[in-house]
Amino acid sequence: MSYFSLRALTKSYDSHTALQEFNLELSKGEFVSIIGESGSGKSTLLRIAAGLLTQSSGEVLLDGKKIENPAEKLVPGYDEIKLIHQDYQLFPNTTVEENITRPLLNYEEGYRKQRVAHLLDRLGLTPYKDRLPKQLSGGQQQKVAIAQALAVEPEVLLLDEPFSHLDAIQKRKLIQELKELLQEMDTTVIFVTHDLDDALWLTDSLVVLQKGKITQKGNSKALCEHPKSKYVARLFSSINALPDREQAYIRPADIRIRTRGGFVGHVVDQRFLVHYNTLQVRLREGGQLWEVDDPARKYQIGDRVYLHIQEEKVLLLKS
Ligand code: ADP
Ligand code: MG
Repeated sequence: MSYFSLRALTKSYDSHTALQEFNLELSKGEFVSIIGESGSGKSTLLRIAAGLLTQSSGEVLLDGKKIENPAEKLVPGYDEIKLIHQDYQLFPNTTVEENITRPLLNYEEGYRKQRVAHLLDRLGLTPYKDRLPKQLSGGQQQKVAIAQALAVEPEVLLLDEPFSHLDAIQKRKLIQELKELLQEMDTTVIFVTHDLDDALWLTDSLVVLQKGKITQKGNSKALCEHPKSKYVARLFSSINALPDREQAYIRPADIRIRTRGGFVGHVVDQRFLVHYNTLQVRLREGGQLWEVDDPARKYQIGDRVYLHIQEEKVLLLKS
């Protein structure tokens, strides 16, 4: 049963169409990530989904009820649908605890205190509850913004690249904590990002948005194994164009290095990764640069290598 529905959403700004016939149906408690480059329409989509921006056409339904847009509703937005973005605004002159309490001022005091204490605890903010926002790190401030949005227990949480200010380690930790909390609350979540890695920490279910249109959706395995475009393929790893065939590509992991035959090249650079090395190989014919995995960490700069591709792993991709 669909719980949160985005149906045929289209948005044009003057002559420019930022979003075109976007459809997505989520069941209660489902998590989906939308991946798209800057300018692909992600923020436009989430603002419409939250009832904060008026669409040109299409509709948003929550549990069968139509979400009204700012043209239809006096005070735009809904308590049931919260949008968190990168440039969150905390109240600068009130403490962390007061910031989180503010959305709950109309609630009964006992509940309010318990709810705020719970969120402070779950997000690891209890030691900082009496500080002002400016006395916190970027990651801690972001957590306060998240706690503030979750205070009223929204049914739907829309995350618009909210972790962009954080470093990789902070980001993973926060996403992991948030994931557990949202699963407990049975919140329905749409996370938009340009970064596949971030998305995969939160969800396995992916929608790819390009120029305002969905170009592919599925779980991470399906998209990785059967990408329809170069853009989708490159989300997962780099790809090497085959010199002798149009629109045919091979991933670094699907190349085998042997002692003869295949494409001949020499190693011009090498990079250490946790599970393997990668090599940059200059092909003798055509002079292309390929990236090749070296799981045995056997090859050095200057070595000659013979590269064999696994035919069933060749990707045929549109641009
Ligand atoms: P993303 O969040 O994926 O970067 P946006 O939804 O912000 O993308 O923008 C999608 C497209 O719509 C971009 O081409 C952007 O320039 C355009 N756009 C966004 N907001 C406006 C606006 N208020 N007026 C005109 N064009 C806009
Ligand atoms: Mg955006």
